[in-house]
Amino acid sequence: MPISRQTDPEPLNPFILSPTRRQWVPPGPLQPEWLPMTPIEKMAQTDYDALIVGSGAGGSAVLWRLSEQWAASGKRIGIIESGPLLLPTHGRNLPTMDQERFVRFFDNPLHTEYIGKQWPEYPGAKIIRALGGRTLQWNLVSPRLSPVQFKSWPISYREMVRYYLLAEEMMSVTTDYAKGSSIQQTLLKRLRAQGLADAQALPLSADLQASQFGIIHSNVFTSSINFFAAALNIRPFDLAVHVRANQVLIDKGRAAGVKVMTPDRKSYTIAAKTVILSAGTWETPRLLLHSGIPGKAIGHYLVNHPKLIAIARGSRDQFGEVSGVASLMVPHPENSRILVTGIGPDPEQYYWYAYEEKPYLNELRFRFYCQGTMEPQFDNHVYLVPGTEDEYGVPRLQVKFTYGNEDRVTIGKQFKFLEKAVASMGLELESAPRLLPPGEDNHECGTCRMGVDPDTSATDAFGRIHGISGLFVADNSVVRLSGPAHPTLTTVALAIRTADYISGQAQS
Ligand SMILES: Cc1cc2nc3c(=O)[nH]c(=O)nc-3n(C[C@H](O)[C@H](O)[C@H](O)COP(=O)(O)OP(=O)(O)OC[C@H]3O[C@@H](n4cnc5c(N)ncnc54)[C@H](O)[C@@H]3O)c2cc1C
Repeated sequence: MPISRQTDPEPLNPFILSPTRRQWVPPGPLQPEWLPMTPIEKMAQTDYDALIVGSGAGGSAVLWRLSEQWAASGKRIGIIESGPLLLPTHGRNLPTMDQERFVRFFDNPLHTEYIGKQWPEYPGAKIIRALGGRTLQWNLVSPRLSPVQFKSWPISYREMVRYYLLAEEMMSVTTDYAKGSSIQQTLLKRLRAQGLADAQALPLSADLQASQFGIIHSNVFTSSINFFAAALNIRPFDLAVHVRANQVLIDKGRAAGVKVMTPDRKSYTIAAKTVILSAGTWETPRLLLHSGIPGKAIGHYLVNHPKLIAIARGSRDQFGEVSGVASLMVPHPENSRILVTGIGPDPEQYYWYAYEEKPYLNELRFRFYCQGTMEPQFDNHVYLVPGTEDEYGVPRLQVKFTYGNEDRVTIGKQFKFLEKAVASMGLELESAPRLLPPGEDNHECGTCRMGVDPDTSATDAFGRIHGISGLFVADNSVVRLSGPAHPTLTTVALAIRTADYISGQAQS
């Protein structure tokens, strides 16, 4: 007897969607197809166990880890982001992008605020207001800080290792990006032969696995959206975009929630037992200061990497026939505060190989950076300027920033080491290395740094604001940046650790 379609509970052919899954749901403004959203009105009626403010590296890592730790619980997790759903992935994963479009896209004042333009002392500072924050545009370089650099921290390197491992796993950190390339091998061999024994492949946050068995690996370069996907696959959470936190609420010494505003200037209060600020190095201290949260160190100890840039050239003849690309790093052999990194050839087009017809070049160009480590100074700080309130009612920031005498000595050593590393590779500098203006490297940290002493740090070793229970910070601002390594991997590792602490506290 033929089986009628009405009585057939599931299609026999597994490749045909079931009738229920075929139902078409009309998309609304808050229902994008690729990520579930929650209306802010609903969030304002919910009492959250954890509310995260900001969706960059730190915020998204906390979201994923809390989702994992609270997978089977009924705990409510919410996350708000001041910007829109700009891109569903890192910008470099889009085949329609090239370097020129990429730069122009992220220069758009609709979503990128060059706050540093008001700051002659720190000209390069910017905020990308969008789901994913600056991870939509970052350069993916992901080294660890080395053990010696944790001496000034309230956490040991030994303890950090497990969080670094988790962060590296989640961010697909690999040193294989240039594996097998003869340029890479030749340059590393020359560096080591010249006594720079620790020269090695640069760790990049890139998923190099091929797509197979229906597992898609087209999302090569990591952004916060990877953490959102991982969290979503574990359990539901509430997310609202275009929602700006403008005040943290405290009740009897503990976090009670945040006040937020939407672009149409409607205000809401979201209640939460735990609030995690992940709005970045500029916006997190701004929120804390505006909310009147006490703490001598909030906004202080701003640090970045003094960073040199140089272009070097070499003829193709010296490398093997299948030349490939290079991405390497060269730690200073005696001074752990200095690091050279380099990529090439054709550094401007480095990440854009897929759809470009590349000319055959006889002379190859490489870009090198040399990052140093700053001495943190109380005086390097951000502060609110009264009377400059923005449309959300929060005063704008100003920054005070100078390199100290010790920093100038480090910068001098950086010039020497960069020249030495380039010469060791048998390459020629196109012109003298130059020091980038502060902020150009986007690595600023420290404005809510971790520590033991409330006089010299904003948070404790778990990212909790000293003296206030339930209020945490998980973004670049907690990082003490005590070495020349790029900050994001460390930020993510610390954010995971903070999430573990929060979930552990909730259980006890
Ligand atoms: C061009 C470029 C290249 C880079 N290259 C590297 C690199 O190679 N290696 C590396 O380690 N780092 C790199 N970085 C730095 C890296 O992007 C940052 O370290 C990292 O993204 C910081 O994460 P975060 O969570 O601190 O903040 P962000 O990514 O800045 O995220 C903060 C989020 O909070 C939101 N927000 C702010 N205020 C509010 C509010 N009041 N309410 C709600 N939401 C709010 C913002 O819109 C944003 O989405 C690069 C950055 C740029 C721009």
